[in-house]
Amino acid sequence: MIPNRSKAEILSIRRAHLGRNLSVSYQDPLKIVRGRAQYLYDEHGRRYLDCVNNVCHVGHCHPRVVEAGQEQLARLNTNTRYLHDNVTEYALRLTATLPDPLSVCFFVNSGSEANELALRLARNHTGRSDVIVLEHAYHGHTQALIDVSPYKYDRAGGRGRPPTTHVAPLPYPYRDRASATATTTTTADRNGPAYAEAVAALAQHLAHEGHDVAAFLAESIAGCGGQVFYPDSYFERAFEPVRALGGLCLIDEVQVGFGRVGTHFWAFETQGVVPDIVTMGKPIGNGFPMAAVVTTAEIADSFANGMEYFNTFGGNPVASAIGLAVLDVIEDEGLQEHARKVGDAFIAGLRSLQQRHALIGDVRGLGLFLGVELVNDRTTQEPATLAADAVIQALREHGILLSTDGPFNNVLKIKPPMVFSAANADEVVTRLDAVLSEVEGAR
Ligand code: PMP
Repeated sequence: MIPNRSKAEILSIRRAHLGRNLSVSYQDPLKIVRGRAQYLYDEHGRRYLDCVNNVCHVGHCHPRVVEAGQEQLARLNTNTRYLHDNVTEYALRLTATLPDPLSVCFFVNSGSEANELALRLARNHTGRSDVIVLEHAYHGHTQALIDVSPYKYDRAGGRGRPPTTHVAPLPYPYRDRASATATTTTTADRNGPAYAEAVAALAQHLAHEGHDVAAFLAESIAGCGGQVFYPDSYFERAFEPVRALGGLCLIDEVQVGFGRVGTHFWAFETQGVVPDIVTMGKPIGNGFPMAAVVTTAEIADSFANGMEYFNTFGGNPVASAIGLAVLDVIEDEGLQEHARKVGDAFIAGLRSLQQRHALIGDVRGLGLFLGVELVNDRTTQEPATLAADAVIQALREHGILLSTDGPFNNVLKIKPPMVFSAANADEVVTRLDAVLSEVEGAR
């Protein structure tokens, strides 16, 4: 029987027996003991609206996903060395969501493992090691991924940029408007197609310096970077110079895939491109630890060089059953279209708040992936980091869970389970209105 400890006891055991750099949300941490759909419940039964968890994609503890996992766990759980219908069915279903020629899957257990394998595939295929990434990017917690994650290696505890990593500017249209008004220099060099030209210039420079580029690696929409959406056709233009030099284009859909953006199943599709390798994680198993890499037959074939690829847990019958159930629920409950409709209304509500609250510098989003950027001054766009934290803490008192991110931790990140309703969106807008007034009044 697992004891029911107080929050203070749990914190003290964590301090002694869990890694000290695991963070805990909120000054007064929450003890969450139950979840259902878009709601979480604490130990006293208080209900919270979850606006953060893009992992429990089709809703916390969705009965169909739970049942699929329980049923398969009770019957058999082995590995891919035996033939089994689940993994092949899942590969068929997953690749059917992707454009040609993305047709070969590798099943793994976390987003980090997926990106790690994607880098290995790219480095193996090209025989090169250098990687171009975007400013503030985060791609995972292994050493190879910290090395391509400026969000980690450039911040507290990081050891700086390794020589094989090269950083292109994050296409961040909102912040570039700031430099347009705040300085006398033109921002033409960082707007629109110019972001892609920066990738081309970097690729040329690297070639000139004798670096061989294995890959360009980017999220379809920058998550840890602060819910940042790139200008139209950025990827189309940025992929071109990378491919011209023989590099591969790797897209990380760990945060944003599986219909979240509403208009498309995969967020990279909003940019009209087909990557060479796509990685997916978080929502893929609705909380069950699973992830995937999907690539072309050509890249997968060059990886099959005689060395066996074996993954103890990846693609096992339970993971595949759960992955199939998640795809079924997204389809049967029309969650992609739902995300589009609710997201549109939500953005409209947030934009109306922007009219009334000077703290809101920018509202951006697609489907149920949204960001509200708080600034102390709309002209200078000085990040309102403290206010953003105050908003998050106060919303929690109103029963709403949100988080902040971005290089200045001033962007409210909104990425709820996909069953989040229009009424939930209205509630967040109403509560945020009240909290912003409190925070602005206290300044
Ligand atoms: N890529 C992105 C974009 C992520 O946000 C994350 C996790 N936050 C990862 C990769 C790593 O995934 P995991 O934590 O499952 O290893």
